[in-house]
Amino acid sequence: MTGIRSYNRRVLVTGGAGFLGSHLCERLIARGDEVVCVDNYFTGSRRNIAHLLGNPNFETIRHDVTFPLYVEVDQIFNLACPASPVHYQHDPVQTTKTSVHGAINMLGLAKRLNARILQASTSEVYGDPAVHPQPEEYWGNVNPIGPRSCYDEGKRCAETLFFDYHRQHQLPIKVMRIFNTYGPRMHPNDGRVVSNFIMQALKGEPITVYGDGSQTRSFCYVDDLIEGMIRLMDSPAEVTGPINIGNPGEFTMLELAEHVVALTGSRSTIEHRPLPQDDPKQRRPDITKAKSLLEWEPTIPLRDGLERTIHYFRSHFVD
Ligand code: NAD
Ligand code: UDP
Ligand code: UDP
Repeated sequence: MTGIRSYNRRVLVTGGAGFLGSHLCERLIARGDEVVCVDNYFTGSRRNIAHLLGNPNFETIRHDVTFPLYVEVDQIFNLACPASPVHYQHDPVQTTKTSVHGAINMLGLAKRLNARILQASTSEVYGDPAVHPQPEEYWGNVNPIGPRSCYDEGKRCAETLFFDYHRQHQLPIKVMRIFNTYGPRMHPNDGRVVSNFIMQALKGEPITVYGDGSQTRSFCYVDDLIEGMIRLMDSPAEVTGPINIGNPGEFTMLELAEHVVALTGSRSTIEHRPLPQDDPKQRRPDITKAKSLLEWEPTIPLRDGLERTIHYFRSHFVD
């Protein structure tokens, strides 16, 4: 039967070698899909997908989504985009291109195939929110010209494109607003708070809290997030989103630092550093829609998720 189209669903995951993408590929393969992973390896790595490489249902293509892509698939998960401020500010023009040109190319691909397409959007579309917690109806408070704008505005424009392809070309779309997510395979040096604090605690280095540490974030464990993503993709066609997926448990950065120190048994002390420009003061998802439309809510509390993540960092990056 080689060469003949099988009955398996064929799914494209852009950014499939990244943190979230690699977990998604794993879950899709586990349920019997054929997965095509597209990545330019800017922030992802082959190490993240090494365990999938021998699988006959998994294939990889080194490709930058800012260029057109011609493949034949039934569904598209568009995750390609650096997610950590350190990475997305490294080449901000490329970041905007990845979100905007990447969305146009993947939407063009989806249009040709009439394939379902899901966009990994972000809570950053709410900017430094004046409404708390954030429901999907909130339009956000985003600086269009600051250092975070390449990411925030790129993602906002991608949402615009998704809804215009939906209205103009009746494309079946799903837009997911992802709130801060953590877990194994986060890049140890990507500057995000969970990976920073864990690496610092494990190495006995000072924990770097930016500002006074009173700013809040809501942290979702990766397995919960991927479950929400798959449920959204498989939801009825009229559920387009945007839909918030995140864990409503809200913590200050000081609280997070204290949890990490306690769970690692570290002797690290806390050191304050300047607060980056435009750093949102608070963030917490309103997940009413995810609960009612997807029957989804997170199940893994911060403490359990941190323990699993600490175990991963300890075994992979620290002697
Ligand atoms: P990540 O940096 O680990 O993964 C992104 C992947 O995209 C990497 O493998 C990278 O190499 C690839 N990539 C980047 N630019 C590309 C391009 N032009 N062409 C092809 N591949 C490219 O980040 P992540 O945390 O896994 O995030 C995945 C997606 O989820 C991103 O779109 C991000 O914006 C979104 N998101 C993540 C979070 C979070 O907390 N992790 C929160 C909100 C939104
Ligand atoms: N595209 C792609 N793969 C496809 C089909 C389209 O990468 O299988 C790209 C194509 O290069 C184009 C973009 O998607 O730039 C948008 O496609 P669309 O059909 O919406 O626009 P048009 O081609 O008419 O500009
Ligand atoms: N942060 C911190 N110390 C660090 C890294 C980040 O205090 O070493 C803070 C950062 O200023 C922000 C929060 O933690 O208020 C979350 O930062 P992250 O970069 O993980 O995500 P984002 O700001 O995109 O939500």
